[in-house]
Amino acid sequence: MKNVKIQLPDGKRAEFPAGASVKTILESSGAKGLDEAVAARFNGKLVDMSHGVTEDGKIEPVAAASRDGLEVLRHSISHVMAQAVQDLFPGVKVAIGPSIEEGFYYDFDFKDTFTTEDLARIEERMAEIVSRDDSFERRELPRTEAIRFFRDRGEIYKVELLEDLPEEVDTVSLYGQGGYVDLCRGPHIPSTGRIRAFKLLNVAGAYWRGDEKNAMLQRIYGTGFATKAELDDYLTAVEEAKKRDHRRLGRELDLFQVNDEVGPGLIIFHPKGALLRTIIEDWERKEHLKRGYDIVQGPQILKGDLWKRSGHFDHYRENMYFTEVDEELYGIKPMNCIAHMLIYKSKIRSYRDLPLRYFELGTVHRHEKTGVLHGLLRARQFTQDDAHILCTPEQLNAEIQAITGFVDDAMRIFRFEYEVELSTRPAKSIGTDEDWEMATTALEGSLKDRGMAYEVNAGDGAFYGPKIDFKLKDALKRKWQCATIQCDFTLPERFDLTYVGADGERHRPVMLHRVILGAIERFMGVLIEHYGGAFPLWLSPVQATVMTVTDRHIPYGEEVLRSLREAGVRAEGDFRNEKLGYKIREGQMQKVPFMLVIGDREVESRTVSPRQRDGENLGALAVPDFIRLVLEKTDRFE
Ligand SMILES: [Zn+2]
Ligand SMILES: [Zn+2]
Repeated sequence: MKNVKIQLPDGKRAEFPAGASVKTILESSGAKGLDEAVAARFNGKLVDMSHGVTEDGKIEPVAAASRDGLEVLRHSISHVMAQAVQDLFPGVKVAIGPSIEEGFYYDFDFKDTFTTEDLARIEERMAEIVSRDDSFERRELPRTEAIRFFRDRGEIYKVELLEDLPEEVDTVSLYGQGGYVDLCRGPHIPSTGRIRAFKLLNVAGAYWRGDEKNAMLQRIYGTGFATKAELDDYLTAVEEAKKRDHRRLGRELDLFQVNDEVGPGLIIFHPKGALLRTIIEDWERKEHLKRGYDIVQGPQILKGDLWKRSGHFDHYRENMYFTEVDEELYGIKPMNCIAHMLIYKSKIRSYRDLPLRYFELGTVHRHEKTGVLHGLLRARQFTQDDAHILCTPEQLNAEIQAITGFVDDAMRIFRFEYEVELSTRPAKSIGTDEDWEMATTALEGSLKDRGMAYEVNAGDGAFYGPKIDFKLKDALKRKWQCATIQCDFTLPERFDLTYVGADGERHRPVMLHRVILGAIERFMGVLIEHYGGAFPLWLSPVQATVMTVTDRHIPYGEEVLRSLREAGVRAEGDFRNEKLGYKIREGQMQKVPFMLVIGDREVESRTVSPRQRDGENLGALAVPDFIRLVLEKTDRFE
């Protein structure tokens, strides 16, 4: 038998008999961390440790804790869960069970509803399977035989999957462990004993293949990690996230409502929520003016022809709302680009006028599916801090660098860490190869010039150009998309935007679409959860609550309140005839940064005694001194 030439993880090359398993090869090479390996990469492709190598190539072990490793591990746990479910509930049919972002699920068809107690029993049975350390065995079968195999077992969903495979597929792979057999591409962990930490989370309904015309199945969600410690951390974070859920805090802090009478995905901001939003928007306007942007504003509806010209009608219609006015079709804007281009077009532009930076707190409507709507985080109407920059190709690099600097400042002020991703041309796109090449190079070059670390998301760009995405990380280490910079060579073409160059000729400007915080609503949702509702002073809709001990303190309380408001401190009065303890508890629930209790001593000395949210008392302060303290902290974004 011939030998295969293999490049080992340490970079050395060696020969092995063809058919030797990945595991054997890695073991003989003395590669480190093999105990942690759940699979391997052979020439870039994920394979089982038992995979027999029949061609030359490069092998690397895949650790359980890595991104790929976790996927393999979680998918394997889903098989073990399916095995446990079939052991315990005869007659259950299995559908599909992939790994997902934070764990895995498996869909089951069963006559009874799975209960919380059932989940506990399933977990117990899974633990038994894990302790038996059964190996995962891969087997390849002709498709027709696989169909017969699953049909004999009554697994109608597997049969349907097999029958729907493209015609040219004649061999499929099955994986078995401890008597359970599943249709699966793999790869899988070597044996069930590799599972060290898992937890079943909940049950939800799910239509077969996501189609409501199909049978309703029961989806059991679970998660798994390489170690028990990581699982515990995750479960703690989930609990914390529930406590911080912005929908719950939005109610408790009286910030906003989403009301069925109004419609899904539509938000009503209450006074404190609207004020929080105003604080953010004021910050936006100031920062944009400071950085050489012009504030502009376009209409909410624009004629259908413009949307045809922009390409949205062809590429984005299903997400848009339309209306008819005077028997003419109008599209409600899903983005703000068009009006900004029309401002550009209102004059002959020279290279000396560029760059032009148009900023709009632009309210847009997008028809998101009902199922993905989620409080402030995903709404159907929202307002973006949107801007379009029109510049020469030579100015592109400096403009992109200025935007990344803007994002960096914003993230520091709102106290987020962030990551950067570059997304390249998707399958469905418009524009020429040269345009894409040039735009992608410009974006990537600016990141490199700023020395920023970034990841590349191949094929994840917008249909009209590549983009840079900034993902912020909140207090619970969750990532949220916020800023993006999208390079666009297409819209300037479609709307025939030009400028007169130094050579006296007409040239095409480049257009950048960019947001810094993204949708204000969504950013507010993230802020609420990030701070658990306890906003820093500068963002707090109510910075101080003035509280009277008894009615005879009200006149001075009102005087203090008036002074605070006149000086620009956002303050409220609680002059109700309630016990002081009750008022303080309520102030704490509302997470107000300062409570000012007004009693005999304060009235007499004409002072306030600020009590901070964390319980610390600042002692007696003259009112002007307290005002200065609040305003200075607000100015420093504290
Ligand atoms: Zn599988
Ligand atoms: Zn745009």
